[in-house]
Amino acid sequence: MVAEPNRNCRGCGPQYEVTEAQIDRILQAPMFQDETIVVPDAVYQERLTACHSCEHLQNMQTCLLCGCFVRVSAYYRTKSCPNVKNRSWGPYTN
Ligand code: SF4
Repeated sequence: MVAEPNRNCRGCGPQYEVTEAQIDRILQAPMFQDETIVVPDAVYQERLTACHSCEHLQNMQTCLLCGCFVRVSAYYRTKSCPNVKNRSWGPYTN
C-alpha cells in the first residue's frame, strides 16, 4: 500500500478508519467488564483526558506512537502511555 500524503498515519487510509460505534462494541466484550483487567472509571477518564490533549493523538482516536485506539488501550491496567520522553499515564497497580 502506498502511503497517502497529508496523513499522519503512514499505513492506513480512510478505508480502514474505525467508527466510535465499532469501538463501543469492542468495549462491550466480557473482558472489559473484568475488574482484574480494567482500570476503575475515574482512572480511565483521567487517561483519556491526557490523551485528548496530546499531540500524538490522531482523529481523537488513535495514538500515533503505538497505533492503539486509546479508548481501548486506556482500559487496561497493564498498559501505559508509550511516550517514553513524557509518559502521560502508567500501569495501574492498585
Ligand atoms: S497514549 Fe500517550 S502518547 Fe498516546 S495519545 Fe495518549 S497521551 Fe499521547
